[in-house]
Amino acid sequence: MADAIATVPVPALRAFVAAIFAAAGCEQVEAERIGQYLVSANLAGHDSHGVIRVPRYIQWLKQGHVRAGQGLTLVNDAPTHALVDGNSGFGQTIGPLAVDLGIEKAKRHGLAAVALRNSGHLGRIGDWGERAAAAGLVSLHFVNVFGGELVAPFGGVDRRFSTDPICIAAPSDGGVPMVLDFATSMVAEGKVLVAADGGKPVPHGALIGPDGALSADPAQLYGPVVPGGPRDASKGLGALRTFGEHKGSGLAFMCEILAGCLSAGGTSGPIAGGQRGRIANGMFSVYVDPKGFGTSDFVRRAQDYAAYMKASRPASAGGEVLVPGEPEARTRAARERDGIPLAAGTWAAIRATAAEFGVAAPV
Ligand code: NAD
Repeated sequence: MADAIATVPVPALRAFVAAIFAAAGCEQVEAERIGQYLVSANLAGHDSHGVIRVPRYIQWLKQGHVRAGQGLTLVNDAPTHALVDGNSGFGQTIGPLAVDLGIEKAKRHGLAAVALRNSGHLGRIGDWGERAAAAGLVSLHFVNVFGGELVAPFGGVDRRFSTDPICIAAPSDGGVPMVLDFATSMVAEGKVLVAADGGKPVPHGALIGPDGALSADPAQLYGPVVPGGPRDASKGLGALRTFGEHKGSGLAFMCEILAGCLSAGGTSGPIAGGQRGRIANGMFSVYVDPKGFGTSDFVRRAQDYAAYMKASRPASAGGEVLVPGEPEARTRAARERDGIPLAAGTWAAIRATAAEFGVAAPV
């Protein structure tokens, strides 16, 4: 991180974030969970979904878009599947509850599906795949963002999708981790935010203008970019683009169908007047117990295959083939040891939020 000014030890950062949310009105246990999962995203190297979100979460809490102290409502419950409502609770509370429900059902029946709607921001979806993998399950997660329309479909210029992440994870028993977890947009919105603030530019074609011209200009998302000014994604006339042309666009479409329509939580748009400004995640998850298929040596087979794939000769000198999840595991090991590097603007914004509640930043 080029402009990192602070490197904060992991326990201090978790405690700081927890203190902010406790001061903002969350029960201590919920505040600690928010600290745990936001820092977990930073540990995995996904800073766009880590503590950078603190000011925005606090703003949503104040606006009532996310609510402290919520649980799951079982809208529809069957042995192998459920539809659950997160009641706009924090994703860091609602996420584990929904995943644990899926784990419990899959452990009992071999296979389960859970459709979650109206959850607060679920952060890094890989956390939920890893939770199921730790319980010995394979899992698939399709996610959308109600109210988060930012991405144009293949062949179009108008925003129709959210960044619609997908995660597929498998247990590894401490071997090579197997966690595929990415947004279906070419870059996350957070990366455009960084570019707008003078950081690393996004690749040409990550954005598209209203005239259909491919672009790397953050103004397509935020409108005219004034240094230090607000970044409001409703102000731009353009859109983000999906990765992989029609393929990424098709995956994003299916995220909206599964997470938005099957859950009935709503697609990324269109949003009715009264709902404007509210953001909620929907997540459709499938949980598979390999033992239910009689494949007791699944992990060994998968690890053998991962090793075979990794043995592919590198395309460039000094290169390496990685299994999805390996980059995160490596970053986690380094950051657990060295602390979390935070950009100047990020650290200043979190401290300013903390100061509103009289919470002192770690020295
Ligand atoms: P990304 O482009 O960094 O891709 C990450 C995935 O690619 C990981 O599975 C990683 O292990 C794998 N990977 C990366 N480099 C690799 C390599 N060299 N070889 C093999 N595999 C490699 O991710 P992203 O699209 O920027 O998404 C970042 C995060 O944002 C994700 O955790 C996602 O869940 C989260 N997200 C959340 C929401 C939400 O609404 N909650 C929305 C969008 C994104």
